[in-house]
Amino acid sequence: MKAEIVSVGTELLLGEVSDTNAGYLASQLVLLGTEVHFITAVDDSMDRLGEVLGRAWARSDLVLVTGGLGPTQDDLTREAVACLLGEEMQVSPPLLQNLRDMFAAIGRTMSDSNIKQATLIPSAQSIPNPRGTAPGWWVERNGRLLITLPGPPQEMQRMWQVEVLPRLQALSQGQALVLRTLKCSGLTEAEAGEMAGGAGDWSNPSLGIYARADGIHLRMIARAASQDEAASMIAAAEARIRAALAGHIWGSDEDSPEAAVGRLLTERGLTLATMESCTGGLLGSLITDVPGSSAYYRGGLVAYSSEVKVAFGVEPRLIEQHGAVSREAAEAMAEAARRRLGADVGLSTTGVAGPEGAEGKAPGLAFIAVSDALGCEAVEGRYPPLRFDMKRRVAIQALFLLRRRLLAR
Ligand code: AMP
Ligand code: MG
Repeated sequence: MKAEIVSVGTELLLGEVSDTNAGYLASQLVLLGTEVHFITAVDDSMDRLGEVLGRAWARSDLVLVTGGLGPTQDDLTREAVACLLGEEMQVSPPLLQNLRDMFAAIGRTMSDSNIKQATLIPSAQSIPNPRGTAPGWWVERNGRLLITLPGPPQEMQRMWQVEVLPRLQALSQGQALVLRTLKCSGLTEAEAGEMAGGAGDWSNPSLGIYARADGIHLRMIARAASQDEAASMIAAAEARIRAALAGHIWGSDEDSPEAAVGRLLTERGLTLATMESCTGGLLGSLITDVPGSSAYYRGGLVAYSSEVKVAFGVEPRLIEQHGAVSREAAEAMAEAARRRLGADVGLSTTGVAGPEGAEGKAPGLAFIAVSDALGCEAVEGRYPPLRFDMKRRVAIQALFLLRRRLLAR
C-alpha cells in the first residue's frame, strides 16, 4: 500500500505551527508496513487544497489528511474532499445531535457554524472524536482510502490510535515489517555507505544511511509475509553489515553512547569522573541521563576558566606552556578528575567553542582525554564552530574515546 500525508492549514505555511502531525503519522505508517511516498503541507485555500488532494487521490492507495476540520469558513477539508469525489455534503442528524449534546454538556449552545462539522458525504463514514467537535471521515472508493483527521495533535493522535490504526491493521494483515538500526562511529557517511552498500543487495531489506550526532545510523527495513520471516531476513542482513563494518558498530536501535559506556563501566566494575571545559557540563548531563549511572559515575567538575582548572589540580605551568586548549591540558584535566574525585577513569574535554578563536587557536578545535591506571590518552578533533553543535559533538566523541579505552582493557 502506498500512502501519503497531507497537512492542511495556513498556520503551517506561515511557520507559526510546525507540522508535527505528518511526522507522527509517518512514523506510525512505517510500523504498519506502509510506505509513505509524499508529505505535503498546504494552506487553507480551496484551489490549492483541491490540487493537492486530487494528486494524492490519483497516485496513492491511502491518503491521510490532517487539519481543516474546524467550524470556521477557512476550514475547507470536508468541502475539498466532497468536491474531489463529486459528492454532496449532507448534515447527518445523529452527528448533529451528538454535537449539540457535547455543547450542552459544557453548558454552551452550539453556533450555526458548527453544523458543517456534522456533515458527511455518501462515501464517508464518520470517525468519532471525543476530544473535540470535529469528527473525522473514513472515505472508501474504488479500493482507495482517504481519511480525514483533526489538526490538534491530541485529537488527531487519539483518533489515530483508537479508531483508525486498528482498522488499518485489519486491512494490512499478511504483511509484516521489521526495522533494525545499527549505529557506527569513526566513519564518514560516504565510507559507511560504501562499506554497507557493498555488503549485499538492498532491495529487501532496504538500507537507509543517516548522519546523526552520535555517528552514522544504518537503518534496515525488511518486509515479508510473516514477522518471523522478516526477522530472519534482518538477522542475515545484520550479520553481513557487522562483518563489513567490523569494529565500527557501537550500538543498535535505541542505544545511546552514554548507555553503551555505562554498560562497559558496569561490566568492568570501574568508576568514572569528568572534568569539562568546552562542553560546560553537557558530558556529565549525558552520562547521568542513563538510569543507574550513580553506580559508576562519581561526578564531574565544570572547570571553565584556567583558574578553576588549576584549583582542581591542573599544573599552571602546563597551561602557561601549552594553553588551556591543548593535548597536555586535556590529559592533565582527565588525570586531575580521576584523582580529585577518586574514580578509576577520568575523562576530560577542552576546546575553543567560538565564534572567536582563543590562544591563537581557531574555533572548533578541541582535545578530549581519558586517564586510567594504565596511563593517559588524548585525541585532537576539529568540529564545526557552532557552539551548541560543537558542545554536543565533543561530548559524544568523549564517550566514544572512553568506550574505545574500556574495550581495549
Ligand atoms: P484545524 O483542524 O485546521 O482547525 O487545526 C487546529 C489546530 O491544530 C491548529 O491551529 C494547529 O495548532 C493544530 N494543527 C493543525 N495541523 C497541525 C499539524 N499538521 N501539526 C501540528 N499541529 C497542527
Ligand atoms: Mg485550520
